[in-house]
Amino acid sequence: MKYLLITVLIVSFYSCHTEAQEEHKSSEISEFEVTKSEAEWKKELTTAEYQILRKSGTELSNSSPLNNIHEPGTFVCTACENPVYKTLNKFESGTGWPSFDQPIQGHIKLIKSNNLNYQEVICAKCGSHLGHVFNDGPRDTTGKRHCINGVALNFISDKKKLEK
Ligand SMILES: [Zn+2]
Repeated sequence: MKYLLITVLIVSFYSCHTEAQEEHKSSEISEFEVTKSEAEWKKELTTAEYQILRKSGTELSNSSPLNNIHEPGTFVCTACENPVYKTLNKFESGTGWPSFDQPIQGHIKLIKSNNLNYQEVICAKCGSHLGHVFNDGPRDTTGKRHCINGVALNFISDKKKLEK
């Protein structure tokens, strides 16, 4: 099953790539709904947010208060507010980073990495770096571990949403 999935991913990656080259010949950046210049991102984000979201940095393990969030709600991209993960899919990985077994479908993109053990996760709306996906997630669900930087996420509680 895992190999089938990998094959499908490779095939779709390949076909998208060819299509993009033939039809659009556009730069990668234009595929995102939210695009900003580096100067604009720098101005809007804190230094830590900029380093992680725009320069693919990684926060220190156990540094995010989001590790301790268990109440129902939605995690959105810090850079563009795109809803990317739900508490429902959060699990205790013991790694010190907020971990999820799956994203909100279609709201993130996976980028193939040279390292076969993981893929990079970016926000599908603004292209910002969120974290990585590893294959050592919960076996009873997806088997995937989306290891996401807390700095790249903001939490919106379902309770808060109802109060508004
Ligand atoms: Zn985003």
